[in-house]
Amino acid sequence: MRLKGKVALVTGAGAGLGEATARRFAQEGATVIATDINAGTVEQVAADICAQGGLAEAITQDVTDESLWATLVAGIAARHGGLDVLVNNAGIAIPGSVEDTTLADWRTTQAINGEGVFMGTRAAISVMKERGGSIINISSIEGLVGEAQASAYNYSKGGVRIFTKSAALHCAAQGYPIRVNSIHPGFIRTAMVEEGIGSMPPEVQQEMEERLMREIPLKAMGEPLDIANGCLFLASEESRYMTGSELVIDGGYTCH
Ligand code: NAP
Repeated sequence: MRLKGKVALVTGAGAGLGEATARRFAQEGATVIATDINAGTVEQVAADICAQGGLAEAITQDVTDESLWATLVAGIAARHGGLDVLVNNAGIAIPGSVEDTTLADWRTTQAINGEGVFMGTRAAISVMKERGGSIINISSIEGLVGEAQASAYNYSKGGVRIFTKSAALHCAAQGYPIRVNSIHPGFIRTAMVEEGIGSMPPEVQQEMEERLMREIPLKAMGEPLDIANGCLFLASEESRYMTGSELVIDGGYTCH
């Protein structure tokens, strides 16, 4: 019960890492506000959590909608007395090199992965600044190292990494008891990764799978629970001396 009594908002909680994090938080006693652009999946996740004795509610949210952020956090504060944890998890990956990425794909990526994290962080600070909280921004190893086929994604996740430090410094300077940290997952088996690899031509797929096994020192992709456990640590008081930090969970991939 490491999050007992805490109220936690997780975006993109209808699938993948967000779903695993919402479920893990609920197991540890949090009241989970699970949001996603996909109403059906997030309602199912919240219903499952409640059926297993946890506390959760589902809200449909597009993280790029600015006005929704303000009403969302104000509503949570009114219903639950405050917000203790925000996980800015919702994100997309559109493969493409600098030469073949369209401006439309570039902007869509920055709107969700970048602006969504900025607006979420800003909204959370507005309701956390008195009683404190933990904001966890899901970046990526692609925010630390480059990938030829991830130009827009690299840009967005590198931005999340350094924005996190700016927000952490601001909160500390203002005397707000709010910690802001980023998590950098490596290759984790979710729809995003399976579909990304699946969309490649078969020979490129094979080459990619072989490259991953060669380059991941722990010789396996991660599971969503590996990232959920990192979020749990940053959400709990166990990480109370951490702010502006980068938690890399990648099987050693970025050690090279
Ligand atoms: P995922 O399986 O695709 O799940 C992402 C969820 O976010 C989906 O339910 C998706 O809904 C939702 N979503 C998409 N756009 C949204 C929007 N505008 N507003 C609200 N929700 C939205 O992805 P994932 O692998 O769990 O990734 C989660 C986060 O981890 C992302 O930020 C990603 O960049 C990051 N990450 C993942 C990996 C990895 O290996 N999986 C590695 C590094 C970083 P729809 O399915 O309906 O679009």
